[in-house]
Amino acid sequence: MAKYYSIAIDGPAGAGKSTIAKRLARELGYYYVDTGAIYRTVAYFLDLLGVSPKDVDGVERYIDELTIDIWYDEEGLQHMIMNGMDVTGEIRTQDISQKASLVSAHACVREMLLDMQRDLAKENNVIMDGRDIGSVVLPKADVKIFLTASPEVRAKRRTDELLEKGQKANYEQTLKDIKQRDYQDTHRPIAPLKMCRDSVKVDTSEMDIEQVVAEIKAIVGKKICV
Ligand code: C5P
Repeated sequence: MAKYYSIAIDGPAGAGKSTIAKRLARELGYYYVDTGAIYRTVAYFLDLLGVSPKDVDGVERYIDELTIDIWYDEEGLQHMIMNGMDVTGEIRTQDISQKASLVSAHACVREMLLDMQRDLAKENNVIMDGRDIGSVVLPKADVKIFLTASPEVRAKRRTDELLEKGQKANYEQTLKDIKQRDYQDTHRPIAPLKMCRDSVKVDTSEMDIEQVVAEIKAIVGKKICV
């Protein structure tokens, strides 16, 4: 049986996981799996139905009506297909970020998405980013990285990113949202965001993208012959 490699990158919102993972995936020829986008798709689906992300019964009632497909275009961009509709752009708002964080705390949602994420790693070399990849989804990942940065730096990066995309963004509000999401993601009972004992921590607060890529490539190079 062919051996497929997996690299898990976990960490809080805005630490730079997706930017770094995308770059690395392109350089290594791996699939980049953005698991946050999958939780966002669930949140968007429930939002369209008017179901509150805190409504346990509502979430359980409607979740079975959702089918999620993922495909990658030639540039490696991960497209999220919700019941046949491409919602890749729609899920990238501050409102859906917050709702995804609340929705992701439900056991039925996490169970539904677990196999989907594991299946992607079964037949591909993957770099997967999220909150529980090293701890729950791929506990045997070949490399586990915990990418973090101070809330202030993360809020600044997230604000710039949203403004660049032409969306409205305000630093103070983004900082508040990030802190709230950190709290929710680290305090939920199921699969909370936490650093695994076998993860390598990289604090990107004082680093630019090139420095982070170089550091992570060095960590990966020590564990996987690339
Ligand atoms: O990474 P991103 O900001 O897109 O994730 C949105 C939300 O999805 C996170 O705040 C988190 O609550 C949830 N999530 C999760 N587990 C993952 C990835 C994301 O709970 N593996």
